[in-house]
Amino acid sequence: MSLVRFLFDGMPVRGMLVRLTGDWQEVLRRRAASGVQPAPVRALVGQMAAAGVLMQASIRFNGALVLQVFGDGPVKLAVAEVQSDLAFRATATVQGEVAAGAQLEALLNVHGQGRCAITLDPADKRAGQQPYQGVVPLHGDRREPLQQLSQVLEHYMLQSEQLDTRLVLAADDHVAAGLLIQRMPVEGEGNIGGERARREDRIGIDEDFNRIALLAATLTADELLTLDAETVLRRLFWEERVRLFEPQQGESAPRFACNCSRGRVGRMLQGLGAGEVQGIVAEQGRVEVGCEFCGLKYHFDAVDVGAMFVPDGARVAGSAAIN
Ligand SMILES: [Zn+2]
Repeated sequence: MSLVRFLFDGMPVRGMLVRLTGDWQEVLRRRAASGVQPAPVRALVGQMAAAGVLMQASIRFNGALVLQVFGDGPVKLAVAEVQSDLAFRATATVQGEVAAGAQLEALLNVHGQGRCAITLDPADKRAGQQPYQGVVPLHGDRREPLQQLSQVLEHYMLQSEQLDTRLVLAADDHVAAGLLIQRMPVEGEGNIGGERARREDRIGIDEDFNRIALLAATLTADELLTLDAETVLRRLFWEERVRLFEPQQGESAPRFACNCSRGRVGRMLQGLGAGEVQGIVAEQGRVEVGCEFCGLKYHFDAVDVGAMFVPDGARVAGSAAIN
């Protein structure tokens, strides 16, 4: 389980490789408790987790990065959420048949309605401040349906973050992995030197980036899933000068964690309204809510639900029941 950063010496190009193993298997194990999902869905969720970690590690956002795809196919929604410390969780909702080997179009974009939303939810939000959200379609500039999540995210990174990015993603039931190559913004780009010098600089930089991006694109899913970072980089970039940094391990490594809580589930139930929630208690004796991400079950009995819907003003110690 690690994240490795690297640079190309003398070129404004950087990269990252992520390999999620034990923590990715934990996501699948918990998800399987409420029914094993089809292999193409597991692969999509794994790719989203790997991509989410790479994007969060790349833009270093202080808050949650939430990657969502939703559409008109059998996958209603797939989500990966990565916190600034690279704690991640991921899940998907499936309704309907998923064909073996289904890709993005068959999973989410059957009638062209599929979308990918990237939400940046700041940790230090001011009251009333909304999270930032960018939405990109699951098709290319010529309206051709995209089959790979990586293509969709490259589009987003260019559009919203102005970062020229290449991504290779792959996941199976053991490993969720990704390679990211990025053209770094050059300091003072666009305001030093004459127009011609600027253009020549830019061409040189683009040549470096394009060459490295083309090499990156030759990485196969199989290689990405089975080889360690050093071997991948040696195979792809043996003619380049790659500077590898120490892998991020332990506390700063990506890891599975769910931040669901009884308080949050309680507030969600409050949002449903007294009638609905009390109706369930009357019928079943209690309300059970399972977390989609970690499988934890939260139970609320008649007393909990009573305290939840105490009218404002009458609320005293009872409100502690949902915290
Ligand atoms: Zn949870």
